[in-house]
Amino acid sequence: MKKEIECEIVEDLFSGYVDGTLNVNTKGLVEKHLLECNDCKNKLDEYKTSIKENECKDKKFIDFLKKARKKERIKTMKIIVIVILLIAIIFYLHNFIILNKIFYKSNKALQSENMYIQEMQYGLGNNLIVNKKYFKGEKYKIINESYSDNGTIVNSIMYGNIETNEITIIDEVNKKITIKKGEGTESFNFIKYIPFINDDRFVNRAVFPIFSSIRTETFEIGSFSNQGRKCYVLNYNFETDKTWEIWIDRETGLPLKEININASKSYYSSETYNVTSDVTNEEMKEKFDEILEQQNDILKDVGDSIYEYKYEFNIVKDEDVNMPDITNYNDYEIIQNNF
Ligand SMILES: [Zn+2]
Repeated sequence: MKKEIECEIVEDLFSGYVDGTLNVNTKGLVEKHLLECNDCKNKLDEYKTSIKENECKDKKFIDFLKKARKKERIKTMKIIVIVILLIAIIFYLHNFIILNKIFYKSNKALQSENMYIQEMQYGLGNNLIVNKKYFKGEKYKIINESYSDNGTIVNSIMYGNIETNEITIIDEVNKKITIKKGEGTESFNFIKYIPFINDDRFVNRAVFPIFSSIRTETFEIGSFSNQGRKCYVLNYNFETDKTWEIWIDRETGLPLKEININASKSYYSSETYNVTSDVTNEEMKEKFDEILEQQNDILKDVGDSIYEYKYEFNIVKDEDVNMPDITNYNDYEIIQNNF
């Protein structure tokens, strides 16, 4: 075979030779030729160098692609984080603004010197406990009533005067008068009995929006005067085992309804609701369970309660807050400085 032709054949076999894919015989022939032919030996070296260069270029290109993709990924992540932050900020500001509006409006409404507040408490058995609060100037009257299948019971009527520090409680059930005098009565503050808006500290205004959600709804079921009112419904987002909701009138900023599910298990033993005074907690709980089994699909536990509020302004007359003649009551008790 002519040398040139042999060289051409060997050259054609370079790639297979470098890759190591030639069969033993062919490989032997190539090696033999390379030992004898410096030209081909040099060409093989060139061939190997060019392959290395190409590999190097490929690697650089892949690195470039990798870096570009990484940059793209970081950029996408940044955009996602910014979008999430923006949504959170908008969510927060939305709640913050609504909340401040509520506090502003309710504070303004409660500055009135003449108002009637009715608090209705559902959830204690079949009873509905109603507190009727009349305020006019420095005088006020609070009537506590229970409604049940057995009729209406007036538990007590309280007359007070913010300026003279005196409260007169008429116990209608036991026909007894209790007069409380002195320190404490002047600080009587009905606002503290209205939920949510009673805590008007900035920390609440600022922190509540983080953990809460606010939706708008129309008041449907409940006392007639609240029906159809547009409400903000506030609740905490991170309490899965209990439900707390407060419905706030958009117009006045005043709470119309507060719902507590699973809020407090000890509620029924509280002496505040002295319907239970001669019943033990166990008996009360049994009674509760009975009632709950029978009906109440909203109230799930003994700690559940629903409060509803009703407000009227400039309707309280003098005779609503003036104390009646109490001389026909026999049982008097005067308590000094004990309020
Ligand atoms: Zn050769």
